[in-house]
Amino acid sequence: MLVHRCALLLMRRNDNKISPRGPSTRGPFGCFEIRLLGMDMIDELGALGEEAVAAFDDLLRRALIEQPLKQPLACRAGCAHCCHQPEITVTAIELFRVADFITAQFAPEQIASLLTVPPSPISDTQASWVLKVCPLLREGACSVYTARPLVCRSINSYDVSDCERARRQNRQQPTIRTYGPQERAGYLTLEMVQQGISATGREAAMLNLAPALSIALSDSDAKQRWLDGEQVFKAAWATL
Ligand code: SF4
Repeated sequence: MLVHRCALLLMRRNDNKISPRGPSTRGPFGCFEIRLLGMDMIDELGALGEEAVAAFDDLLRRALIEQPLKQPLACRAGCAHCCHQPEITVTAIELFRVADFITAQFAPEQIASLLTVPPSPISDTQASWVLKVCPLLREGACSVYTARPLVCRSINSYDVSDCERARRQNRQQPTIRTYGPQERAGYLTLEMVQQGISATGREAAMLNLAPALSIALSDSDAKQRWLDGEQVFKAAWATL
């Protein structure tokens, strides 16, 4: 509930509009910081991930009232153009939520298939600009849908032909007509989470989902080490 109130504070300070720039001071980020500072129990991480999603949902709900959609979005089950990206970026809080979902729901052989993703290239960002299908896409659908990252909740499109073209052009000129407030809700929530993590001195880098999952699922101490302030995911930091 605390993070939920942080999101509403962000909205109010932006005169009831979702600012594309985000807040100028750290005030509301302090809410997440307080939650993280007091956190030394692994079990609390999952609750924090859920609160971040609730904060995003609240921002989006308010935006839809104040800035209605121009027309229905084209996004629907079975459409997965946006699941082909050079990287899917997540915070550690979101990553642990996805990993917990997988551990609880996936068969051992499905988990094993996620353990072999190589780490991100460190330096040559151009070389890493290759579209890859997210390893969590199964038969055209997201296999972790209820636990999917904030970036996946933010991406949207008014026209699937825009998404098809962007994917065909390797996302070099991704002109997609979107409902901007949904993207900004994701941006603000991610910034709140990342700033909150950073303020507590823990690893706050954005992570490349696939190799970071490989680490989280293969290292049973990953959560505790992350809570203790170790850079657990350095080999999986996002590069783009
Ligand atoms: S996590 Fe799910 S929604 Fe996000 S890119 Fe992967 S398959 Fe698609």
